[in-house]
Amino acid sequence: MQPIGLFGGTFDPIHCGHLRTAFELLQELSLTEVRFLPTGSPPHRAQLYASAELRLQMVEAAVTGQPGFVVDDREVRRSGLSYSVDTLAELRQEYPQRSLCLLLGMDAFLGLPNWHRWRELLALAHIVVAHRPGWRAPTTGPLGEVMVDHGTGSIRVLHEERAGRVYVRAVTQLEISSTELRNLIIAGRDPRYLVPDAVRQIILETRCYAARQERGAP
Ligand code: ATP
Repeated sequence: MQPIGLFGGTFDPIHCGHLRTAFELLQELSLTEVRFLPTGSPPHRAQLYASAELRLQMVEAAVTGQPGFVVDDREVRRSGLSYSVDTLAELRQEYPQRSLCLLLGMDAFLGLPNWHRWRELLALAHIVVAHRPGWRAPTTGPLGEVMVDHGTGSIRVLHEERAGRVYVRAVTQLEISSTELRNLIIAGRDPRYLVPDAVRQIILETRCYAARQERGAP
């Protein structure tokens, strides 16, 4: 009964920072799989760059060949806004007995109090926070309280309980962000080694980010 890892994101585009983090958590937490969930229409971001279909295609290309990496397209297929709490509730129904671990970078974790019905998330899943360069775990405010009430340093607890714990894990720090990648591509530079080759190929062939520059977008 190993836990299932759930890694959501806009993945606009997916990059080696996401993949290395997911891979280390898959191995070090002995997850049965890491399920990548590209967002459909994210509530927190006014604008996406590549289409949902293309972001999904890039995630699929990125995980191909890696055992334990799985793509879940439910948020892309869903019409309307995607809320993590709804996705987790669905997954909880599908896997009533399994431990579910929501995998978040520290930046995403710090933004958690802005998420829709965020306090319900811990009733549905554990939260595993990957340290990201430049971010520190909260000690005060609502998240500081969550750390005190739900924090654990034990991977075993993540296996034995189905939900309700927060576990912080340092991962190899790769200072890559999708925003910087898009800017780099718009500036005419090559994203090689920051994204898997298959993702780079899709970016170059579709010109999904460079095209914005041609249309005069920032
Ligand atoms: P953007 O720059 O467009 O905000 P991003 O690079 O942060 O994008 P997202 O798709 O928004 O990527 O992030 C999805 C998840 O991956 C979040 O939980 C985020 O914290 C995490 N994440 C993003 N970049 C890294 C990285 N370099 N290392 C570890 N985790 C990361």
